[in-house]
Amino acid sequence: MILSSQDTESIPDRLVTPEIEETEIDMDINLRPQTLFDFVGQEKIKEPLSISIEAAKGRNEAMEHVLLYGNPGLGKTTLASIIASEMGVKIKTTAGPALERVGDLAAILTNLGRGDILFIDEIHRMNKTIEEVLYSAMEDYALDLIVGKGPAARTLRMPLERFTLIGATTKMNLLSGPLRDRFGHVYHLEFYEPEDMEKIVHRNARLLEVTIEDEAANLIAGRARRTPRIANRLLKRVRDYAEVKHDGTISIEAATKALTMLLIDEHGLDEVDRKILKTIINAFKGGPVGLNTLAAATAEEMETIETIYEPYLIQIGMLERTPRGRKATARAQEHFNTIAQAQSALL
Ligand code: ADP
Repeated sequence: MILSSQDTESIPDRLVTPEIEETEIDMDINLRPQTLFDFVGQEKIKEPLSISIEAAKGRNEAMEHVLLYGNPGLGKTTLASIIASEMGVKIKTTAGPALERVGDLAAILTNLGRGDILFIDEIHRMNKTIEEVLYSAMEDYALDLIVGKGPAARTLRMPLERFTLIGATTKMNLLSGPLRDRFGHVYHLEFYEPEDMEKIVHRNARLLEVTIEDEAANLIAGRARRTPRIANRLLKRVRDYAEVKHDGTISIEAATKALTMLLIDEHGLDEVDRKILKTIINAFKGGPVGLNTLAAATAEEMETIETIYEPYLIQIGMLERTPRGRKATARAQEHFNTIAQAQSALL
């Protein structure tokens, strides 16, 4: 079968993308921590969150609305379901782009019971009309609906149960001020510390019932771009390799060979990251180079570079965003010099 470029666009071909692929939903559910205690890292969030949960439970009230923001794969959806289970309430999950008509939102809101949670992923992608309906729902626990048209139109106010909205976003700057202000708690999920990444790899190996050497867990954790979703994905691929090519145990040898085969280097960079950095270094003398020129030179979409590749490259100090464009840092140059030296030593 010949695939068109549109078809190939939907094929999940990038191992280190923090975004979830369709085929991973089941894996995600199996490995998802169920309690705050099991949720590794993010200490700055966990304590205030557990206090708010305790307090709301003590008062027998719904929790205030919560906004979670941070890169994909850091645990926003997981935290929302943990909050629901710790509060002992139901959770209804939807996403900004899925709410097309006011009726969609109205149907969901009127079905929520007292204290229930509505989780809206990608809340920055909600349309304006829906957003405005959400304002009164969040503030007054009422739904203001316009019934009829023209001069006969009137507003109908329907009371709602006290619910908690949990919004998740990867782009805080795209959220309107009035919406942001209606959240009682705003938590920023950060990239994970190396030791937390290692704990996550060990925990998930246990859940997948596979034996892993400490050194191998350390290696996988170090290449997972400080993102649990990527750690889970790499762990599964390394497990496959260990089962087929070795005795099933994830030894340091199996992990090293598997990750080399998958072309992921010691910083968790894949071929596309390396292409972006090398283009800046080789074709633009290290930069600065404008985003659109960089996109044209690498044949990647501007939006993809900006939202998927750059955040991590910036985080590990290999790329800089300057007013005049993107620059590769001295650290990136060093990384490629080391690779070049290692390659020439092999010749
Ligand atoms: P997001 O909603 O931010 O994109 P998810 O909540 O879907 O991210 O998390 C992706 C996966 O990463 C989850 O299935 C879970 O297994 C894992 N994960 C996320 N955060 C943690 C954590 N703190 N501890 C353990 N596993 C985690």
